[in-house]
Amino acid sequence: MKSAIYPGSFDPVTYGHLDIIKRASEMFDEVIVSVLDNKKKTPLFSVEERVKMLEETTKDLTNVKIDSFSGLLVDYAHSIHVPIIIRGLRAITDFEYELQNAQTNRVLSNGTVDTLFLTTSLEYAYLSSSGVKEIAAFHGDISHGVPPLVEQAILQKFPKES
Ligand code: ADP
Repeated sequence: MKSAIYPGSFDPVTYGHLDIIKRASEMFDEVIVSVLDNKKKTPLFSVEERVKMLEETTKDLTNVKIDSFSGLLVDYAHSIHVPIIIRGLRAITDFEYELQNAQTNRVLSNGTVDTLFLTTSLEYAYLSSSGVKEIAAFHGDISHGVPPLVEQAILQKFPKES
């Protein structure tokens, strides 16, 4: 069985992420979307909340599983015996960072963990979780960027009276 890991912060999941997940799910027998528990970042949503939103928004994709991990991605990849990482690329700005990460992961894993890039669908090229959160903080419309259940969850974090 060919499996791949799609790791990320997913704080929260956007239509851009969902597009990558759907396309990856058509290429692999199994896609494991894994939420990184990064102690250095202060996320808007807890890992549990992010996992739940991913589970709800991918429930129609039967070969997609949701998980979480902390620590080095290559250690996680080895622990679940999946040597392929998927990452999404939006623009040149993503490229430099992603290239460095991909090469680092190859070195750290002695060439056993490789990264596969999927380029964003054009309609989502502008989308990012941080952009969505910034708009939501000012009570702007985020329905173009996230599914309704994610929109509701974000609205609860930024109540109108705040
Ligand atoms: P990070 O893991 O860098 O904190 P995210 O959790 O936001 O980033 O994203 C996880 C992955 O999804 C990354 O590879 C990122 O480039 C990709 N991604 C984010 N937004 C989009 C989008 N709109 N279209 C395609 N890929 C995206």
